[in-house]
This record gives sequence, structure tokens and C-alpha cells, in this order.
Amino acid sequence: ELEVALKVVIVGNGGVGKSSMIQRYCRGTFTKDYKKTIGVDFLERQIDVDGEEVRLMLWDTAGQEEFDAITKAYYRGAQACVLAFSTTDRDSFEAAHSWKLKVENECGEIPTVIVQNKIDLMDQSVVNPEEAELLARALGCRLLRTSVKEDVNVASVFRHLASRCLAE
Ligand code: GDP
Ligand code: MG
Repeated sequence: ELEVALKVVIVGNGGVGKSSMIQRYCRGTFTKDYKKTIGVDFLERQIDVDGEEVRLMLWDTAGQEEFDAITKAYYRGAQACVLAFSTTDRDSFEAAHSWKLKVENECGEIPTVIVQNKIDLMDQSVVNPEEAELLARALGCRLLRTSVKEDVNVASVFRHLASRCLAE
């Protein structure tokens, strides 16, 4: 039987929770001061999608996103994308559009989910729900709201991407 392996890139401004999301999904852990210490380029998790085994390889950045210095190797061969912003960081929301263009430049059109993370901090939100919906519509992507901290909706993000990829 053919095994499907998917390279997934997680983009968005620094601090939105990308590394935490990978850690949460692949290792089931969450820490307040997660630094990139995994020492590898990606973590992986295998899931079953409609009876098919899919191996998801989630690629992390080492914080280079701050300096607009993510290497070509990071994007190379990516088949799906998580574009994340934070509920409590207006800049990260404003930057979503340019992240989408960057990924498109490097990878072409690949299945992408927009993720509004840190919904456990909704009381400190600086993005209203309608704006987020509008952004998703403008970029032609599904919007999912997650809390990596409380493990809300994280698995749905990757399940959605995997089935989108299998359907192509
Ligand atoms: P990255 O720079 O995008 O990789 O972000 P990190 O994964 O390093 O996370 C930045 C900070 O946000 C860390 O202190 C995380 O613990 C915290 N964080 C990540 N996800 C959540 C979340 O869903 N809720 C809350 N409250 N904090 C989060
Ligand atoms: Mg990180």
C-alpha cells in the first residue's frame, strides 16, 4: 500500500504559537516558554484519513521569521500550509496577507488553512470575528480558531489539510 507523506509548513509572525502548535500536535505537550530545541527540521505525526495512512511532516522555523530570512529549503516541496496569527497580536493579523503571498511565491497554490490561535485569550482580543472571516474569504482559505494551550481545534487543522491534499 502506498503511504502518503505530506510536508506542511507553518508560517506567521513570531510569537503566534507556531512551534507550540507543532509541539502540541506531535508530542502532546505545551510549555509557556517553548524555544526551538527540537534539533530537527520537522516533527511528524501519522493519522488516518478515510482509511488512508497519512504521514504529516510539520516543519518549524528557528525564529528566522522575525528577520524575513526563512530559507528556500524551508518551503521546498511543501504540499500544505498553516498560516497562523494571534488573537492578541494585531500585527500578526495584518501580516497574514503577505505571508500568503510569500508561500504562493515559493510553493504555488497549496491547500492552506488560516489559523487564529490563542482563542483562550479572547477577552484580550484585538481582532474582531468579522475581520477574520473577511480575511479568510479574501485569501480563499478556511479559517479555524485554535487554542494550542488548551488543545482546542488543533487536530482539526491538520485533519482538514490532509483531506484537502488527498482530494487533489
Ligand atoms: P512562534 O514564534 O510562532 O513559534 O510561537 P511560540 O510557539 O514560540 O509561542 C509564543 C508564545 O505563545 C509562547 O509563550 C507560547 O507558550 C504561547 N502560546 C502559544 N499558543 C498559545 C495559546 O493557544 N494560548 C496562549 N495563551 N498562549 C499560547
Ligand atoms: Mg517558533
